Amino acid sequence: MIDLTQKLIRIPTLNPPGNNYLEICEFLKQRMEKSRFETKLIRAYDTPGDSNKFPRWNLVCFKDGINKGNTIHFNGHTDVVETGNDWSVDPFEGKYIDGLIYGRGACDMKGGIAASIIAVECFVAVSPNYSGRIELSFTADEETGGYGGVAFLANEGYFSPDRISSVIIPEPLNKDRICLGHRGVWWAEIETFGKIAHGSMPFLGDSAIRHMGAVLKEFEEKLYPKLKTIKTNMPVVPEGAKSSTMNINSIHGGEAEQEKGFSGYPAPVVADNCKIVIDRRFLIEEEIQKVKKDIDDILKNLENKRENFSYKITDLHEVIPTMTDKNSRLVSELTSSIKEILGVNPDYVISPGTYDQKHIERIGKLKNCVAYGPGILDLAHQPDEYISVNDMLDSAKVMALSLEKMLI
Ligand SMILES: [Zn+2]
Repeated sequence: MIDLTQKLIRIPTLNPPGNNYLEICEFLKQRMEKSRFETKLIRAYDTPGDSNKFPRWNLVCFKDGINKGNTIHFNGHTDVVETGNDWSVDPFEGKYIDGLIYGRGACDMKGGIAASIIAVECFVAVSPNYSGRIELSFTADEETGGYGGVAFLANEGYFSPDRISSVIIPEPLNKDRICLGHRGVWWAEIETFGKIAHGSMPFLGDSAIRHMGAVLKEFEEKLYPKLKTIKTNMPVVPEGAKSSTMNINSIHGGEAEQEKGFSGYPAPVVADNCKIVIDRRFLIEEEIQKVKKDIDDILKNLENKRENFSYKITDLHEVIPTMTDKNSRLVSELTSSIKEILGVNPDYVISPGTYDQKHIERIGKLKNCVAYGPGILDLAHQPDEYISVNDMLDSAKVMALSLEKMLI
């Protein structure tokens, strides 16, 4: 398990731009073929980011048991985010120190991939006469939306409920927690408009930036206090994400700042355009139409009371909240395996953000999906990211035991 994790970390699959996807897929292909799995390399042609320089490669592996039965699918993303600064070790060396393996992707989620592979290989070795089918997929681009990875495979039918019973995604959610789903997302661009004029005579123009200021003021005074009061019964972690939230991802108005070394400042003109991108995360108790209407109402209200105010909202991206049934076979078997291996009752959690489960549910129409894997979520995307070998071992045991319960 240590060796496998180190080898995965040593293939730097930084995304963006999407480096070495073919290399990591070929490494995993060899590994799984050695374990007598059939494999299929699939390139997600023409998905965002796919090019001959940075092709989006994915790998799907299959192994049938001796009788028909359930199909259990493990899915792991092979991409990792940029390293950033402040590392005390080489982020792509996979250094092992005192029971921990360090490196970019150690916890998110090459450690999880290694744990699921070991779990599957051990299960097949111990129970070769199982019923049903085991599948593993290793997919690209989760960190940038999953379009060249799980979304692509889901569109090709790989995640349809008529061929798959359950999916486990070994993301780093801690070995004693089962993640049942995620909150909803709505990204939109809001644009305000003005009239260009010389900056020395702004009264001859109309500033789109000041109009956007009025929007932000309404958000501060009306929207944010209201969002805080909208609470969910979903077990979302961390606590703050139990309320509805909204981030403003970006703001821009007027002429772009020049590159350093040139004048450095925009020209003196009144901005005729200002844009923000909002990232609204909503709860299973909320309807997306209502989420959108609340924002639109604020803007409409401004249109009525503020002179020359006009706006445009453009939808960018949306995901409906999801929560897998706690009483499903998958969750029950994982729960009893966690009890047997770790001697504790698992916590059921909901992720504040989304991950590839969204495509499995929305495109694949498959409900039985959870994230369960080793690693501490807070370490993901941080410097000196690491995974504990003990945690990997424990969660691999839980995964293998769950296979035993579902495929015999
Ligand atoms: Zn991840």
